[in-house]
Amino acid sequence: MNVAEGTERSRSNLKNALASVMRGEVTDDAEARRAAARDTSLFERMPELVVYPVDANDVSELVRVVGAERSRGTDISLAARSGGTDMSGGPLTTGVVVSFTKHMNHMGEVNVGRSTSYIDGYAVTEPGVFYRDFEKATLQKGLILPSYPASREIAAMGGIVANNAGGERTLEYGKTEKYVEELDVVLSDGSLATFKSLTPSEVEER
Ligand SMILES: Cc1cc2nc3c(=O)[nH]c(=O)nc-3n(C[C@H](O)[C@H](O)[C@H](O)COP(=O)(O)OP(=O)(O)OC[C@H]3O[C@@H](n4cnc5c(N)ncnc54)[C@H](O)[C@@H]3O)c2cc1C
Repeated sequence: MNVAEGTERSRSNLKNALASVMRGEVTDDAEARRAAARDTSLFERMPELVVYPVDANDVSELVRVVGAERSRGTDISLAARSGGTDMSGGPLTTGVVVSFTKHMNHMGEVNVGRSTSYIDGYAVTEPGVFYRDFEKATLQKGLILPSYPASREIAAMGGIVANNAGGERTLEYGKTEKYVEELDVVLSDGSLATFKSLTPSEVEER
């Protein structure tokens, strides 16, 4: 078996392993891989696979399978992709691109809070929601995330949070990290966790 055949076989094995645990699509289609091979930087990395998780459980299963592969010595990595407008190659990998805009694109609750202060309100979003849609939903309730980047029409919330985006209002209002109150994340062992700040009494309770 030559190197190309070996690579083809390992890609096919991984694809089958992921397809058996994920509800979202797992593809090695050339067009999908090409679309995920670029962001807005000069870099290009052709991924082996592109996956489209439908929810956090899908991401968890994906991370578990890829983690197990890595522990067997396979050189494979994951790169999360939301809008793909990163200017530094962040969402690129030769491994598996995890694309969030296809399915994980739902807005949750937008709550104006008890007072008129913007600090009191909050919005819940999945990572694949484009900022333009997020903003439509928040503006309906009189709220805005003031750290939106200049790429507001093409960037999505996962990338905005991960890149700690800032923009034209950042000098006055700060960057995205200032507005993230809670994050549901998948850790490197595939477990789900919620990160948020705790009050002193909540810390005591733990
Ligand atoms: C014309 C133009 C103008 C821009 N202006 C600005 C600007 O004013 N301010 C600014 O900060 N940036 C700017 N950018 C850069 C970029 O658009 C922003 O950083 C944007 O927030 C990235 O969002 P995205 O959805 O495209 O992320 P992506 O490109 O998809 O990803 C960005 C990073 O986040 C990670 N990521 C994506 N989704 C997830 C997820 N679900 N979980 C964990 N990690 C994830 C990726 O792996 C990658 O490292 C600009 C880019 C362009 C092309």
